[in-house]
Amino acid sequence: MKKLSVVRTLLALAVVSLWTLLNGCVRWQAESEPAGDTPVKTVPPAVDRPAPAPRLAGRRANRASGAVIARARAAMRSAGSQHRCGPYRLWTDVTDPPLLAACERIGTRLDAVYQARFSVAPVGEAQETIFLFAHGEGYRRFTAEQGSVRAGYAGVARGTQGFVALNADGLAVETVAATLAHELTHLVNRRALGSDLPRWLAEGLADAIGDSAGGQGIGELSGLSGVEEEARRLAWGYGEGKVGSVERLVGLGRGEFDRVVVSFDYEQSALLVRYLLLDPELATRFRDYLRQLASDQRYSSRALQGVLAVRWEELDRRLRQWVMDGGNRRG
Ligand SMILES: [Zn+2]
Repeated sequence: MKKLSVVRTLLALAVVSLWTLLNGCVRWQAESEPAGDTPVKTVPPAVDRPAPAPRLAGRRANRASGAVIARARAAMRSAGSQHRCGPYRLWTDVTDPPLLAACERIGTRLDAVYQARFSVAPVGEAQETIFLFAHGEGYRRFTAEQGSVRAGYAGVARGTQGFVALNADGLAVETVAATLAHELTHLVNRRALGSDLPRWLAEGLADAIGDSAGGQGIGELSGLSGVEEEARRLAWGYGEGKVGSVERLVGLGRGEFDRVVVSFDYEQSALLVRYLLLDPELATRFRDYLRQLASDQRYSSRALQGVLAVRWEELDRRLRQWVMDGGNRRG
């Protein structure tokens, strides 16, 4: 019995060991291989999403509020009348047909000219309002009510408030048309390049369109045509040694532009931008830099110089020579 019980015990042990061994193998197998009917995890097919839109510096146009329009009309004779200058709404007490026709020509073509001249496209459509005052008194009253406008200016642009205001009192159609094109270009600058351009660039671009505009609309850029008076003043300043360097101009903070008693900042900006647009070598690089600004790159004079690939002193020498030479190019 004892022998039999030992054999039974041995048999029992063998069965238990075999069971444990098999069970262990099964468990190991279960852990190391996925069960046949478990769904295999798959990577979901890539959804064809559109690429994110590139960031743009340009801001959408603002519309003038009803309160601003009411204030402007209250400063016009007979509350003015409403017209259109292309996409812009015009409120005016001017009745001079040639001036109204010039406004229509300029407003209609401005976006296309801007894009062709600077190689950057404004965001969205123009929505702003033009207030054109026949009398200086009305212009001054309205601009004073809007605040922060220095007296004596013939025009002002307020992109955030959605308007430009102009004084036509006693001024030739050619002059008012050029000022209108200049001020409207400030609005387009905002739609194409944003609202924190350095002053030299904002003014220079506005002049690069305004100084080529007149009663017949916006013309081509050619030499010093339309900017002769500024060029004469700048040439005088160069002769007197009173004009600062280009490096100084392009490095000025917004509050530093045109702040000294004898300043050539406006003239130098107009002539510098025109020179950059007309120089066969620099024009492409300057437009490349404008495109960088349009794609929301922050302005930096160092980055500008990197793209222009010319030393500031060399640019000073070439600009001065061009201006002193009346816009005729000499190496
Ligand atoms: Zn301006």
